[in-house]
Amino acid sequence: MKQYDYLIVGAGLFGAVFAERAKSAGKRCLVIDRREHIAGNVYTYRQAGINVHKYGPHVFHTNATEVWEYVSRFTKFNNFRLGTIANYKGEIYSLPFNMYTFNKMWGVLTPEEAEAKIASQREAAGITEPKNLEEQAISLVGTDIYEKLIKGYTEKQWGRSCKELPSFIIKRLPVRFTYDNNYFNALYQGIPVGGYTQMVANMLEGIEVRLGVDYLEHRAELDALAEKVVYTGPIDEYFGYRLGALEYRRVHFETEELDKPSYQGNAIVNYTDRDTPYTRIIEHKWFEQGSGVTDKTVISREYSVEWKLGDEPYYPVNDEKNGALYAQYRALAEKEPNVIFGGRLGAYKYYDMDQVIRAALDAVRTEIGPIIS
Ligand code: UDP
Repeated sequence: MKQYDYLIVGAGLFGAVFAERAKSAGKRCLVIDRREHIAGNVYTYRQAGINVHKYGPHVFHTNATEVWEYVSRFTKFNNFRLGTIANYKGEIYSLPFNMYTFNKMWGVLTPEEAEAKIASQREAAGITEPKNLEEQAISLVGTDIYEKLIKGYTEKQWGRSCKELPSFIIKRLPVRFTYDNNYFNALYQGIPVGGYTQMVANMLEGIEVRLGVDYLEHRAELDALAEKVVYTGPIDEYFGYRLGALEYRRVHFETEELDKPSYQGNAIVNYTDRDTPYTRIIEHKWFEQGSGVTDKTVISREYSVEWKLGDEPYYPVNDEKNGALYAQYRALAEKEPNVIFGGRLGAYKYYDMDQVIRAALDAVRTEIGPIIS
């Protein structure tokens, strides 16, 4: 018998949830991560008394009661609601698309007027069945909003024309004909009090974690330790890129500590024009309503860049070409009976946090059986 039942590669949300549930079912788990910290891309660290979202802003939101109750065992949540602002060449608009946005764009006052405006723009563009992100966006919110708030931002974020991108990406954003600028349509929302890293540390309590360990570099000796592997790294890397590399987008951040109480008065401001080189500025303290820090603030300018082999992957590019390549890797994965692939990179999916947690809970159920406690 080997020393561990599961070797869990990756201490992000998928890995931490799998490990926590497996441990509670009496399984012996070893978690490794090639980074020097746990929590994957939800990692937060403290700077000037503020929890900084190192790999980009994460706002927890879910409609799944099971997922909410599960994460609530490991953290309290504050009552943060994201109300993003779009800055288009100095004009400020409310996001996601709602009556405040429509009023600012067209001066319309009622839902009926806004719907009529969008319908006339959709008709003028001649769209019946949207085939790509551009057509989907125009059909949802009209040409003006597409041009000012979507086109530049999306092309910066994805490095591709909106005509080449799948329409589902834009459907992540709600469109509302009410004066409600809550970014998410979710029953449960908030930010972990004390930061995401603390939440993940609580999940991993009592579980052996080794940091700075690269699975693929030490595969033979690590495989010898455990009966099964849960792999949350990039699926194409696992297979040595033998069918070619899947594409990702990478983001990078320029983080600055400023001696002022507030920089922009909001957690996220998107710069939706094409010319501003960054996509958005994050002011971390506003995820925690300022949380008592008055004299300093920390901001991060977020740039989206093309990913190349060896870079940190962030966003899978779920277009047709990559979808087809992923399907081939998935077929290879089916032939690895002792490996479970999961997480944003292992499943090559543009997951939200709650979807990753749900997927990990499901994976444990399939693997070990019903979750008892
Ligand atoms: N989006 C946009 N303008 C904005 C914000 C978002 O056009 O100001 C589009 C963009 O295509 C993006 C998608 O909406 O990829 C989803 O945005 P979301 O905020 O869900 O992306 P996240 O940052 O959570 O990955």
